[in-house]
Amino acid sequence: MAFGDVVGHQRPVQILRRAIEGGRIHHAYLFTGEEGIGKRMVALNMAKALNCVNQQGDACDECLSCQRIDKGVHPDIILINPTGESIKIGQIRELQQAIAFKPYEARWRVIIMDGAERMTREAANAFLKTLEEPPGGTTIILVATAVEGLPATVISRCQRIRFNPLNPEEVRKILSDRLAAEEIDILASLIGGSPGRAVQMDCEEVAKTKAVLLSALSPSLVKRLHSAQDLARYEGRGRMFLEILGGWIRDIIVYQETQDEELLLNRDLTNEIKKVALQQRTDGLLGDFWHLLHVQQGIEAHGNLQLSLESALLAMKGS
Ligand SMILES: [Zn+2]
Repeated sequence: MAFGDVVGHQRPVQILRRAIEGGRIHHAYLFTGEEGIGKRMVALNMAKALNCVNQQGDACDECLSCQRIDKGVHPDIILINPTGESIKIGQIRELQQAIAFKPYEARWRVIIMDGAERMTREAANAFLKTLEEPPGGTTIILVATAVEGLPATVISRCQRIRFNPLNPEEVRKILSDRLAAEEIDILASLIGGSPGRAVQMDCEEVAKTKAVLLSALSPSLVKRLHSAQDLARYEGRGRMFLEILGGWIRDIIVYQETQDEELLLNRDLTNEIKKVALQQRTDGLLGDFWHLLHVQQGIEAHGNLQLSLESALLAMKGS
């Protein structure tokens, strides 16, 4: 694939293409944004576009350089990932030795460091000089989910490019190559603007949790209490349930206000959402929504999942 095939991320791609076309490549970039939205993919496309034999400012996907980068065997395109929890000083030293020599064949040697916020302090310090002044014909792309983990000395040496989460249609388009439409419908409310999250999810497990959602919203308080207790037995499912519940309430409110099915995240539950939307008042649902956010913050703070689930389910007015 090439820059021209990237879904979303118009602004980052435009900045990079202009830099290549104008011959003004920065010595170091810092790509930031949520996990799984395509930062690393854009970095690889940058490496391809910088070295493509046939195209100016993009990749042709056919020349030897493009193909080698796609296969991960180009000797001058260097990828660095955390080993275990972090990127360690040994990895930085190894890199510095490798780039002491001229590139083997590339016009531009590109170093892509994924998970850059996980550099240890020693690694980051050892990397500073390289970041500031890489050898000629070399550009460095740091890829990070958040800048908080990075020292200011690293951030200030890079041109920062922010990546926004994708919109639901863009996510759908990217996932349509890998998942059936029904599966995307099931997962959509949980993956936000990050197609990468969908790939890690177990669609069957999500579908089961969604089935619990419908029974958990029974008018009977006792039934709701039992649902909360059942859900709390599996921690992963309980947390996922609260996230699904948030998307469910959001969809009901959105449908009440717009009557537009296309805007629903949980398209697999369209009929149920329309039914509830007719019965409930928006202000009650908004109350539920705020309460749910509060409950989710509570889990982070005190970690009592069962209590949090009971609180969310018992307080629901919009069911
Ligand atoms: Zn090419």
